[in-house]
Amino acid sequence: MTEQNPFEMAQKQLDDCAETLHLDPGAHEILRQPMRELHVSIPVRMDDGTTRVFQGFRVQYNDALGPTKGGIRFHPEETIDTVRALAAWMTWKCALLGLPLGGGKGGVICNPKELSDGELERLSRAYIDQIWQFIGPDKDIPAPDVYTTSQVMAWMMDEYSKRVGKNQFGCITGKPICIGGSCGREDATARGGMYTIREAAKALGLDLKNVTVAIQGYGNAGCNAAFLCKELFDAKVVAVSDSKGGVYNKDGLALENVCDYKAKTTSVVNTPDVEQITNEELLELDVDVLIAAALENAITRDNAPNVKAKILAELANGPTTPEADAILYDNGVHVIPDFLCNAGGVTVSYFEMVQNISMYCWSIEEVYERLNTKMTDAYHSVLDASRIYGINMRQAAYVVAVDRVVEAMRLRGWV
Ligand code: NAD
Repeated sequence: MTEQNPFEMAQKQLDDCAETLHLDPGAHEILRQPMRELHVSIPVRMDDGTTRVFQGFRVQYNDALGPTKGGIRFHPEETIDTVRALAAWMTWKCALLGLPLGGGKGGVICNPKELSDGELERLSRAYIDQIWQFIGPDKDIPAPDVYTTSQVMAWMMDEYSKRVGKNQFGCITGKPICIGGSCGREDATARGGMYTIREAAKALGLDLKNVTVAIQGYGNAGCNAAFLCKELFDAKVVAVSDSKGGVYNKDGLALENVCDYKAKTTSVVNTPDVEQITNEELLELDVDVLIAAALENAITRDNAPNVKAKILAELANGPTTPEADAILYDNGVHVIPDFLCNAGGVTVSYFEMVQNISMYCWSIEEVYERLNTKMTDAYHSVLDASRIYGINMRQAAYVVAVDRVVEAMRLRGWV
């Protein structure tokens, strides 16, 4: 299968939405390209005394609604088109959540697994040295993403602060709590997703206490989601999986046992006293809620007809192909699209910025409460649009988000 260029895919999604909205051609043209992008060469002194030059990018897609925001990825296969696509998706995600932010993304072509801690720190600082004039709390605020951690954010914030000559905690989010991080960031993505599942269940008339849940992907997002399903809804998580396979218990899994087993062996497969299932079987289980929390393209036109869940919650980015989307919609599966379902992370990142700027730290309860409000409002704006326009939830999410960005551009006199 030839992989689709991610930026072309993002442009195609926008084009479809432009048609639904009868978008002004000028506004459409502005939104088809990044507003601004920076390509940098980053020299780093390696431990053996040699100098290596890494390539990096920062893309600011659109800032009509506010300063751009988006993660920095350290990945060996990073490309400018992936960064552009992700920056576009961040623009829609921030707009959908009603955050006063635009969308951005950054990336460095490197393999952090092959770097020592010292090399990783020098690379993180050197990247900021190259882009610091381009970013800042009122311009563009990076965050962690693939293979970048809170420690990397701490180094980057420190480097930026040195450059501008004062502490600037609000220049980057996802920092450790003692240097300006926010409570609640750890499980924010999964928790935000839970709030949208709760609202979807209400809309469909499902009693969450009795629902069964299957989770594909038992990493950061999926594992947090499993525990939150129990904690928030007392729901029955009957199956979870990772890249090696899955486990199933029709009466509900003992999640602590699965976690302990995974911590010892790196996989949930062969956890004692449960049934073993394949990843394919997990996706087709007769459950109420299916949470996709692994990778892209999990649900395709081949397996979409067999999905029996009433709700598909996309905590992962891009788990459903466009062909599968149409099949799920026809079969009445209620999809909570990725840039709504997994927006809890950027929302708490935004809260972190607000706390940094106001020099006041919120309690964990305040973070949860505000996250709940944001996710609930966003879910209902998408549900309403899907009903008004007679379109699926993903198309509706686009319509809401793009419409907000276009309105901001119009009011600012750009179109
Ligand atoms: P992670 O690496 O911690 O976990 C991914 C999990 O998926 C691992 O357990 C892996 O074994 C499993 N997996 C891989 N291939 C699989 C397959 N074919 N079948 C079943 N499981 C498979 O990553 P994460 O941070 O949990 O992110 C998961 C998804 O959520 C990604 O798409 C990511 O972009 C998205 N997401 C995560 C966050 C976050 O805050 N962690 C925020 C927004 C979006």
